Order: sequence, then C-alpha cells, then structure tokens
Amino acid sequence: MKLLERVLGKRKSLQRSLVKDLLISLLVVSIIAVIGFYFLVNNSINLKLDTININKKEDALEILNIIRRSLAITAITVILISGIFMKLVAAKILKPINQLKDATKKVAAGDFSVELETERKDEIGDLTHDFNKMVKGLSSIECLQKDFINNVSHEIKTPITSVQGFAKLLDDDSLNEEERKEYISIIIEESDRLLNISTNILKLSKLQNQERLVNKEEIEVSEQIRKVISILEPKWKERNLKFNVNLQDVIYYGDADLTFQVWMNLIDNAIKFSEENSHIDIKVKKEKDAVLIVIKDYGIGMDEKEKEKIFDRFYQIDKSHSEKGSGLGLAIVKRIIELSSGNINIESQKGKGTSITVKLPIETENNKIVIK
Ligand code: ADP
Repeated sequence: MKLLERVLGKRKSLQRSLVKDLLISLLVVSIIAVIGFYFLVNNSINLKLDTININKKEDALEILNIIRRSLAITAITVILISGIFMKLVAAKILKPINQLKDATKKVAAGDFSVELETERKDEIGDLTHDFNKMVKGLSSIECLQKDFINNVSHEIKTPITSVQGFAKLLDDDSLNEEERKEYISIIIEESDRLLNISTNILKLSKLQNQERLVNKEEIEVSEQIRKVISILEPKWKERNLKFNVNLQDVIYYGDADLTFQVWMNLIDNAIKFSEENSHIDIKVKKEKDAVLIVIKDYGIGMDEKEKEKIFDRFYQIDKSHSEKGSGLGLAIVKRIIELSSGNINIESQKGKGTSITVKLPIETENNKIVIK
C-alpha cells in the first residue's frame, strides 16, 4: 500500500492526477497502436510473406512473432521511460509546491520568520519570490499593529495614571483651596487629553477601514478655512499671531466634514508650532484640475529626518509639547487626503518654519464638479 502510494501519490494529490493522466494517455496510444498493427501492419506482412517465397507456414509465423515481440518490447520501454520521466517532472513540480505548502502553514500559524530560497528563474521561482514578499508585507502589518496597540496603551495609560494620582491627592483633607483647584484643573486637562486621544483613535480607525469617500458634496474651501481660523481664534490670539490670507473662491467636490478636519489639524499645528508674535500665511488657489492650499508658518520647523516621520501615528518631535496633541492629527490628515486622491507636500527648515501644500483634484464635469 505504502509502495503504491509512493509511486502513484496520495489520493487527490497532484502526483496521483499526473500519473492518472499519463496512464490514460498511454492506454489510448496502446489501443491505437494495437488496432493499427492488426489492421494495417499484420495484414500487409502476411500478404508480403505470401509473395516472397517463404513456403513454410512456421517460418512465416516466426517472423511475425519476432515483429510482435519487438513491438511489445518497444511499448514496454516507452511505458517505463514515460513513467520515469513523469516521476522526475512530478518531483520537480511537487517538491517546491509541498515546500510552499508547509511554509504557508507556518505563516498561517503566525510565524513570519519563514523565508524560502530558490535559484529557479521559472514560474516556481516567481511564486517563491512573491511568497517571500507576501510574508514580509504581512510581517510589517503585524509589527505596525503591535506598535499601534503599544502606543495606544501607553498614550492612554499616562493621562489615566495622572487622573488617578491627582484624584487620590484630592482625598487629603489638609489641602488648601489653591492646591485643590490646581489638582482639579490638572484632572480636567488630562481627561480632555484622554477624550482627544480616544476621539482621534476612533476617527483614524474609521478612516482606515473606509475605502472611499461616500458623503460627497460641493464645498467652498476658502469659506471652510475662514471658519477654522475663527474657531481657533482664542489659540492664535493667545500667542499673538496674525494671518495673511489669499483665498480664492473655489468649489471642491468632496466630504465636507473630512475636508474641514484637514484644515483644522493643519492650521492648529501651524498655530501650535509658530513663534509667538509671528504670522501664518494661507493661500487657496484654483489650478487647471486641482485646488491648491498652502499653509505656511514661521515657527520651530523640522529637519529632514523628523519630516519623514510626522505622518506616523503617535509621532511627536518634541514630547514636551505632548499636552497639546496626540500625534494622530497628521496621520488623520494623510488618510483623508489619500481617500480624496490628493497629495500633501511639506517643506520645512529647522528654526525657520514649515510650509504645507495640499493638492486636491477637482473632478470632471461628469462627476458634477463646478469651478467658480
Ligand atoms: P500633534 O497632535 O502632536 O500635533 P500631529 O500628527 O498633528 O500631532 O503632528 C505630529 C508632529 O509633527 C507634531 O507633534 C510636531 O512635532 C510635528 N509638526 C506638525 N506640524 C508642524 C509644524 N507646522 N511645524 C513644526 N512641527 C510640526
């Protein structure tokens, strides 16, 4: 039974199916050959033997038998050689497929350290390279998820510990009114931070699961920006900042709430990271098939390395500013712009300031876009 399985392969295996196909084709070829031999070759040989002077019936039969034997030997040799050939072909295909199957099982069980090596340049080689690429991709997604969970736990734990600590201190009867007020204001601040972080995490996760924008409508971009500036007035007044605006009227077709969120996060950052008493320039410009929004501050700026990371979730260049944000604002901005098929470009110089350009494509007339 074991030997039969080794030769024929397991039930429903690729090897069994290849052997089955080979046997069927050999059977068909043999039947055709036998029929051909009896109807064509056998008769012609008999006729020929009659004409050339072989009178003895036994001699004639012997010659015929020699021919039959050689045909049988040829047939058996062909069957054996095809069998061996088939076995080699099967091994060449089956071995890597089985290796890939085992590796896939490991990956499915969560082991992303699997790497397959191959010198092959054929389809199996391509498949092996693609498999390695897929495992790398899965592994980095897994890392990102682990990082995200670690970050979330850390970011949430910090304010909770702080709230818990100050709440315990409030329990002390010997506190004077001033201390009590200070602790309460810290608890309120930390709870706000907690609320801000959880709201942003939820927003980002919702955006990440979203494939495209659904609630599209006509948006007056410049109007939205004016509104954001006015909402943020207490913040920029406190730092004595001024705005230089050059806002062209452009109607953009997109998700109003999400677009509003983009300006909110970018202008809020420009205010937070501006030098006191400086100004912020904002420009909205209509281009041929896009709307350009430039937000420029003259604040702390960033170097190339920092610039590369600012879209990462929870990344903050200076953690001492962390009470002012969660490091999720730009990740949210990036995702919204991705969903809007736009792009964002940052130019920045440490100590000089930052200029952020957002480009959003204006859809064609078929998609109901109007440019004023
Ligand atoms: P946060 O909530 O901390 O503002 P963001 O995701 O919006 O989070 O920004 C991430 C980090 O990128 C900020 O903490 C800051 O270090 C840097 N950053 C963002 N915008 C600016 C800017 N206009 N100037 C300088 N640094 C900036």
